[in-house]
Amino acid sequence: MTDCIFCKIAKGEIKSDFLYENDNFFVIKDLNPKANTHLLVIPKEHSNSLNEFDGEKYGKCLIKTIQDVTKKLGIKSYKIQINTGKEAGQEVFHLHVHILSNTKI
Ligand code: AMP
Ligand code: ZN
Repeated sequence: MTDCIFCKIAKGEIKSDFLYENDNFFVIKDLNPKANTHLLVIPKEHSNSLNEFDGEKYGKCLIKTIQDVTKKLGIKSYKIQINTGKEAGQEVFHLHVHILSNTKI
């Protein structure tokens, strides 16, 4: 998607520090953190929201990515959130998973 901020970050058109990356996902810090640590796990391939996400293809990899990045950063206690749809507070329409933790990294 040409006009999507997370697609632009995925392609390196907008610079952002990747805390973690694998073939299908990358992880960045949220610009406006709502916890001591607030990360976003973002698929490299665009989908508007969880409703359009190919869970068959990427579901296991998404869970593994969350496990790997939290382990790498020493985060043992956290919650995840996926805002899906405008009424649920979704603002960026490229799927992303929030990781929120009291652990400081
Ligand atoms: P949501 O409400 O689930 O769509 O969340 C979008 C999140 O993306 C918000 O928490 C924003 O702070 C965050 N965000 C928007 N643009 C950027 C960016 N360029 N880098 C990091 N986080 C961003
Ligand atoms: Zn996108």
